[in-house]
Amino acid sequence: MAESVIDIQVKKTTSSKLNQVDWENLPFGRVFSDHMLVMDYKDGKWHTPEVLPFGDLQLHPATSAIHYGQSIFEGLKAYRNENGEVVIFRPDMNAKRFRASCQRMCMADVPEELFLQCVQKIVAIDKEWIPKKKGYSLYIRPFLFATDDYIGIKPSDSYKFMIFTCPVGAYYSEPLSVKIEEKFTRAVEGGVGRAKTAGNYAASLYPAKLGKEEGFHQLVWTDAKEHKYIEESGTMNIMFVIDGKLITPSETSDTILPGITKRSVVELAQSWGMTVEERKVTVEEIIDSAKSGKLSEAFGAGTAATIAPINSIGFRGEMYNLPSVETREFSNKVHAHLDAIKAGTVEDEFNWITKVSL
Ligand SMILES: *Cc1c(COP(=O)(O)O)cnc(C)c1O
Repeated sequence: MAESVIDIQVKKTTSSKLNQVDWENLPFGRVFSDHMLVMDYKDGKWHTPEVLPFGDLQLHPATSAIHYGQSIFEGLKAYRNENGEVVIFRPDMNAKRFRASCQRMCMADVPEELFLQCVQKIVAIDKEWIPKKKGYSLYIRPFLFATDDYIGIKPSDSYKFMIFTCPVGAYYSEPLSVKIEEKFTRAVEGGVGRAKTAGNYAASLYPAKLGKEEGFHQLVWTDAKEHKYIEESGTMNIMFVIDGKLITPSETSDTILPGITKRSVVELAQSWGMTVEERKVTVEEIIDSAKSGKLSEAFGAGTAATIAPINSIGFRGEMYNLPSVETREFSNKVHAHLDAIKAGTVEDEFNWITKVSL
């Protein structure tokens, strides 16, 4: 890894919370490491990033992000591999996607190299917070929000970029039951579904709550116009194995978040000689292949859960059950392979791993 070229100020905590953590039972997203990184955009430029003790922010009540939603985020993970090194999975992809989200939401964009240096710095500072237990990791949450204290509607002139980290365990504890949603939508053509922006998640809460009341863990979003094409599941990309082929909705439209986990699954499958189809996927095709038994696997792909097996799909009041998780050759193999790349026990043939210099 190149030496840090960017000046980052560090003010360390004098009261670490490390010994208060129950390392055997880490809930997702409720335990926060000792430090956070803060970098302000003002007067047309980024100012020196600072690492500070984790703590509250003080905000003006008119802070524009709160009112008008110029707010974006990323999610990635750091791991301690079998050699004791600290590694991050494909952070360059998060840096690129963060910039794309900045541009779509009309926000000051964070140069990729600056983003990467900040991510590595905060991970290096809180490296003791990376859990050692298998399947656990350090979740990294970079985010950016508009900070003008002004209630007129315009792109903010000032922004705050921050990163904090959370030691985390498993995201889902069981295979998912999902419902194909035909009324509500997550994203529309011409909208902001491709950006990792805060409002997309707020908009999904109400339909997800209705789905939960019917007993589903997650919704499968369909296109806004006809509710005919499958898009994503919850906050994950969705992938299927039908007749031995890996099939996933293509992300060429602006309604699907271009996921790094999905991209990695596609690239591994192709390298193993599997046929991969990234194209429009109709609800009809999925239901028909579930009925005929050709749908052998379905799963969500995302950083938080990596591979989240789907074991039943609800559609118009009917439930379609999939083969049991143990029989799923492809998803089990790809999940294990991704874990092994992160653990450093197989060759990182695509150069997906960034080692953090400590
Ligand atoms: C973050 C996210 C994903 C998954 O992306 P990864 O890069 O694999 O973590 C998929 N869909 C939505 C809506 C997301 O926010």
